[in-house]
Amino acid sequence: VSHELRTPLTSIRGQTTTLLDYAELIGPEERLEALRIVDEEAARLDELIGHLLDMSRLEAGTLRVEPVATDLRPILLEAVSLIAAQAPAHTLAVHLPPTLPLAQADPRRVMQVVSNLLNNAVKFSPAGTTVSVGAEARPTTVVIYVRDQGPGIPEEHVPRIFDRFYRVEENGTRVSGVGLGLAICKGLVEAMGGQVMVTTEVGEGSTFSFSLPRTQGDVSR
Ligand code: ADP
Repeated sequence: VSHELRTPLTSIRGQTTTLLDYAELIGPEERLEALRIVDEEAARLDELIGHLLDMSRLEAGTLRVEPVATDLRPILLEAVSLIAAQAPAHTLAVHLPPTLPLAQADPRRVMQVVSNLLNNAVKFSPAGTTVSVGAEARPTTVVIYVRDQGPGIPEEHVPRIFDRFYRVEENGTRVSGVGLGLAICKGLVEAMGGQVMVTTEVGEGSTFSFSLPRTQGDVSR
């Protein structure tokens, strides 16, 4: 964590020091490039700090989840359109049945979990591949899945993949992250009464999914 916190900070300070010390010598293009780096690294820090705060709230039992009857369709569509803008080299596909029951869930937290899984799918799979998102109704739950055509996860790592700070280094050490995303997803989903699951095959890809309870007195749409 300290490495992941320090690297972006060092980069930001490097750029701002250059901008300040050589203000008169720097052309507009160089200045823009420096600002772009500052912006990117600040976003990385923002995400990391968000993850650290969420994890400590989950562990302290102070992270609030407010389940209400939730239509998952607009949440999935919004999450996909946000990631599509950030991942122009991937094809995004959405598979939704004509009718999907309401889930008893916190819409903001569902958005957070889906966005996290989508981020990972895009982060770990090569450009030009497809990332699919879908949902299916089960007798007492609704299951949401995110499937990629990435490297997959070797069998021996699968049991620990949702643990805090666990990362599979073979997937490329240069992919940034500290290994909290999936642990947070698990904590949030379980707090809403659901379960996280993964099926994965090396060289084929991974499917991360999670269930959410259907609302009582179901209103089907
Ligand atoms: P981070 O992305 O910060 O490393 P996560 O908790 O989100 O942390 O993921 C933990 C590890 O699980 C990742 O480092 C990676 O090795 C593996 N992983 C997660 N999602 C995928 C995926 N879609 N494909 C392959 N490996 C994945």
